[in-house]
Amino acid sequence: MKAEGIEAARRVLCIFPRYTSAFGTWEYAYPLTDGIKAFMPPQGLLVIAAYLPAGWQVRFIDENLRAATEEDFEWAEVVFVSGMHIQRQQMNDICHRAHAYDLPVAIGGPSVSACPDYYPSFDYLHVGELGDATDELISRLSRDTTRPAEQVVLTTRDRVAMSDFPIPAYELAEVKKYLLSSVQYSSGCPYQCEFCDIPGLYGRNPRLKTPQQIIAELDRMRECGIADTVYFVDDNFIGNRKAALDLLPHLIEWQKKHGYVTKLACEATLNIAKRPEILEKMREAAFVTIFVGIETPDPDALKAMHKDQNMMVGILEGVQTINSYGMEVVSGIILGLDTDKPGTVDALLNFIDESRIPLLTINLLQALPKTPLWDRLTREGRLIHDDGRDSNVKFLLPYDEVVNSWKRCMEIAYEPSKLLSRYLHQCEYTHKNRIKVPRSSEMRSWRNIRRGLIMLRNIFWKVGVLGSYKREFWKFALGRLWHRDIEGLIGSVLIGHHLIMFARAASSGRQNASNYSLRLREAQVPAE
Ligand code: SF4
Repeated sequence: MKAEGIEAARRVLCIFPRYTSAFGTWEYAYPLTDGIKAFMPPQGLLVIAAYLPAGWQVRFIDENLRAATEEDFEWAEVVFVSGMHIQRQQMNDICHRAHAYDLPVAIGGPSVSACPDYYPSFDYLHVGELGDATDELISRLSRDTTRPAEQVVLTTRDRVAMSDFPIPAYELAEVKKYLLSSVQYSSGCPYQCEFCDIPGLYGRNPRLKTPQQIIAELDRMRECGIADTVYFVDDNFIGNRKAALDLLPHLIEWQKKHGYVTKLACEATLNIAKRPEILEKMREAAFVTIFVGIETPDPDALKAMHKDQNMMVGILEGVQTINSYGMEVVSGIILGLDTDKPGTVDALLNFIDESRIPLLTINLLQALPKTPLWDRLTREGRLIHDDGRDSNVKFLLPYDEVVNSWKRCMEIAYEPSKLLSRYLHQCEYTHKNRIKVPRSSEMRSWRNIRRGLIMLRNIFWKVGVLGSYKREFWKFALGRLWHRDIEGLIGSVLIGHHLIMFARAASSGRQNASNYSLRLREAQVPAE
């Protein structure tokens, strides 16, 4: 950060709020691992931690791993919090706990940037990205850490160029307890899907780091002990195709240097299937998964939501093309669209069977602030502000019918034999298209072998012996063992087990039908 205006060094407690159980929190998978307890280290808070002036002390706590203690709050002079809309109640809860120690609390990140009014109790609101508001916040706190009499709202007007971003402070996080690690090369997306808040929050012209920054981040992750899978959290990896092509040769070099021990994943639009020059390089760089917002197989619905980029290539053809470069597709799906008809769920289930995509995040439509959908539904009087519902949208079909169709979809899509047969296809077809690399000494290390053995023991015992879908599991597992595909066995069952268990909870009404809904999200925050 800029050094001007810094008067005193501070002790900053950065707290990332806990998630309550959701489709993407993977808590059913963790007991099968060797000690993983959370999904990804939070990039935003770790970047802020790294941006603080030299000499400031930072303690980072992810409450998905452990709760902040009395000793943490007593140590701190100020508390920073960041998170997404679904963590709103937990963020307000952290604020309440910090105020019990009379600490000033600042909140930044995507949720407060879109909805500052969700956070009336915080002392400082940091709205927008890293920039002049961050410098102002640091400078104020260096002068005075008493709680301001009124809430102070600081809004970034002048953003720090991503090429000037520091390396996130991975060294503060317990990196070995995360399922994946994350890295961000670009921010923003050129498209304007009606439901999406990315263009409104981060712009349509993607901002970029340099390839050298990404390599330095990957090196730092290795130093901190992260080696397994690194997820590019860019809103759209091919939002700037030239930039993606610039980065890929550096990733390939890095992978060669380190013996391909790290697998890569990203999010991208389906039209990546029309870019063989990018896909080929991704294959060489060992990208193994792409999250694609397919949303719906219905072309009328895609048109209505302004997702024309998904129609540049046939959807099934696009998925097959990506698979042919060795990458599994993970798909976002939305139910509750205005274009949905009584036959929509059957069409979706057919699509799942045909595409053989194992993992689909099937969500009910939710209108997010700062989106064209929010504006349209406001005009039409179809926004419902009731945290007891699974969605804030007044659907055109009856609400119960839409929620029940979601439950039915979850139940059928994640029925064990169906899901494991889709994983079988990935193991037998997609994985075979991956780049073949010699097994490096790091891959053959005792640490790796031990991890694999622990996971196999847990899987065989907890799913194969104690589990509730033993027959389907053993059919799949014995096939993988016969083909000596231990990696396919562990990877598929870890994630598949979560999907099966989550879907059972969902279809019986014990989970929300939207990742954004606050229904069933427990932290109740007393008024101050
Ligand atoms: S392509 Fe993805 S990131 Fe871009 S606007 Fe659409 S949903 Fe958002």
